[in-house]
Amino acid sequence: MELSSLGTIADVRAALRNGAGAVDVCAEFLDRIAARDGAIRAFTHLAADRALERAAALDGRGPDAPALPLLGVPVAIKDNICTRGLPTTASSRILAGYVPPYDATVIERLTAAGAVVIGKTNCDEFAMGSTTEHSVRGPSRNPWNPACVPGGSSGGSAAAVAARLAPAALGSDTGGSIRQPAAFCGIVGMKPTYGRVSRYGLLAFASSLDQIGPFGLTVADAAALLQAIAGPDPRDATSAGAAVPAFEEAAAEPARNPTIGVPWSILENGVDAGVGAVFTAAVETLRGLGATIVDVPLPHAEYAVPTYYIVAPAEASSNLARYDGVRYAYRAPLDERDATLDRMYDRTRRHGFGDEVKRRIMLGTYALSAGYYDAYYLKAQQVRTLIRDDYDAAFRRVDAVAMPTTPTTAFRIGERSDDPLQLYMGDVFTAGANLTGLPAISLPCGRDGAGLPVGLQLIGPAFGEETLIRVGAAYEEQAPWWREAPPAAGARGPE
Ligand code: GLN
Repeated sequence: MELSSLGTIADVRAALRNGAGAVDVCAEFLDRIAARDGAIRAFTHLAADRALERAAALDGRGPDAPALPLLGVPVAIKDNICTRGLPTTASSRILAGYVPPYDATVIERLTAAGAVVIGKTNCDEFAMGSTTEHSVRGPSRNPWNPACVPGGSSGGSAAAVAARLAPAALGSDTGGSIRQPAAFCGIVGMKPTYGRVSRYGLLAFASSLDQIGPFGLTVADAAALLQAIAGPDPRDATSAGAAVPAFEEAAAEPARNPTIGVPWSILENGVDAGVGAVFTAAVETLRGLGATIVDVPLPHAEYAVPTYYIVAPAEASSNLARYDGVRYAYRAPLDERDATLDRMYDRTRRHGFGDEVKRRIMLGTYALSAGYYDAYYLKAQQVRTLIRDDYDAAFRRVDAVAMPTTPTTAFRIGERSDDPLQLYMGDVFTAGANLTGLPAISLPCGRDGAGLPVGLQLIGPAFGEETLIRVGAAYEEQAPWWREAPPAAGARGPE
């Protein structure tokens, strides 16, 4: 195989089997980044030298060294995941220059599996957003149309994989931040069950919702990455003890006759016609490959967005209290004359945080304040239980629930930046999986009239990633949309 046609993890493995070195693979992706990332801006920091050194060390392992599942696979890492010796800023001014002294558990595990971290990717500040426009570094671009957002908050990771600048990437998903950019960029993204993957070393946004997960071009690639990072971790008390199934093997065993629930009633309003048509065709494809399609009611699904926008900001307001200028990175300069502790806090946070982060801190502080706690936070936690009850009822009848990942395809940069409410409404189909902790995957399932990708979301029962992988693999076998590369990948784009 020509190195220039490398796309998937499977391709990297084949190249290495056929005599290429990890250094050749790494150099190929670094060359692509050098040539094409100026137009995409997926990366905020490249670890070129370090990655090549590491690849050389992998190449230098003797013939008797143990086989490693991700040997020589370059991986791009969202910039809110701590990487020892590499800047980790969550795309915020307040962490400018912060270089963690430790690796997140997921980074340790990827490294142990043989992967090579090639760089850090752009995101919305502290993962709060859906476009990457809330990054202090400015927006990344959608590889299908550079005038459009790649989605967010893990937009840089999704754009990197879609543009073939990395075969795989990690993101984090608090209300959709892996699945939504995967959908907008036409790739596979997965939010694992809450607790499946350690959050140790993830800069916390909303601790009861955050999960780290994989991006890949194919379901099998996402499964390979998940395999490497999943499993209990004594350093994260919320990581689950559940045994980790053989996800990669599941990807090789497509589900033949699953029962899939579709909540048709919640899709009646607010879904763009183009997305609706592509989604309906995807459901027909599932039926065609032997799935039984049943209607499932999710009566509380419409409350996912208001519930999420109480819980997430509330948790964010307390998590972000630690950025006060004392311990980490940025501290605002002060005149000696008025250098009081309060002023230092005030100016550091005023200058260090962007507008969206400040909006969330204020919303969250309000929702948690005395007199409002019961009306907002407590009520939101109760509604959260009702949403989970709906899904539990659904999973007594179906193996997975299908819906579009997003109500629209990617929109233009700037088009919604003045309208937070409209952006928040875009999380309507994704936030539910975070509120309930359930695993969910987004797969490319076609393109709308403008040639922009549409995502098919499958939500599974707790710790049911295997089912999502098997159903996803069956769909993908029938409808291999991932084979169409966007124009930014140097290939022919939509007609
Ligand atoms: N778009 C959602 C938000 O703005 C989700 C973000 C995320 O999952 N990190 O909060």
